[in-house]
Amino acid sequence: MFERSQLSRRSVLAGLAAGSALAASGCATTSNPVTGRQQMILIDDAQLSQAALQAWDQQVRQTPTWNNRTAQARLERVGARIVNAAGLGNQPWEFRLFDTKDKNAFVLPANKVGFYRGLYEICAVDDWIGCVLGHETGHVTGRHAAERYSRQMVTQTALGVAGAAIHSDIARAALGMGAQVGVTLPFSREQEAEADIIGIRYMHDAGYDVRQAIPFWQRMETDGGARPPEFLSTHPNPDNRVQRIRDYINGQGWGPA
Ligand SMILES: [Zn+2]
Repeated sequence: MFERSQLSRRSVLAGLAAGSALAASGCATTSNPVTGRQQMILIDDAQLSQAALQAWDQQVRQTPTWNNRTAQARLERVGARIVNAAGLGNQPWEFRLFDTKDKNAFVLPANKVGFYRGLYEICAVDDWIGCVLGHETGHVTGRHAAERYSRQMVTQTALGVAGAAIHSDIARAALGMGAQVGVTLPFSREQEAEADIIGIRYMHDAGYDVRQAIPFWQRMETDGGARPPEFLSTHPNPDNRVQRIRDYINGQGWGPA
């Protein structure tokens, strides 16, 4: 994906300097208003949105859109309820159906949500769509892309300090990918777990049946043979996920799940 020759020594050094400056200025963390969790954020929303829009344009060019008006209307209807519950109904959102059989969905900063036909077709009830969109919206309010990018910057700086590692694949990736990294790498397991729980809250506040999250994730587990990145790479143990979600729902008194 990235040619070695594209990275001159000068750009490597410039990248390291930028990374060091960012890391130095980012020692303080900010408290996430939704989760209360302390996060290190080293990129502003405008930069992240710009990178996200580029990645989104590429996705739209490369993957056919599913032109199904009924499905599109249903997705947008559920989406509006979820983002309103998240307090983000005053922002522009795009929900797009892609015409592949993947049982997957994703979100990019700038409120771009991709939803694949394969996932849509197993969503017999709106609650399942609400479960997916709650999870994706949870990544947004959790500021997971900005956090992921920021961690990448720190890794880059650490590699610079180490010096010897500069020609490793990791260093090349960190230095070459720039802001794109923040929108294309998988989320961490911690972030996925957090998005699950935030998503359940949004489902509940939007009036969906949160108990439906259990059969939904069980179904994802059953169908998991060819799960693509968002739901696969960071969820090696789906059993824990279902149990965690069940415990949360019951703990809130929204069960029995
Ligand atoms: Zn996720």
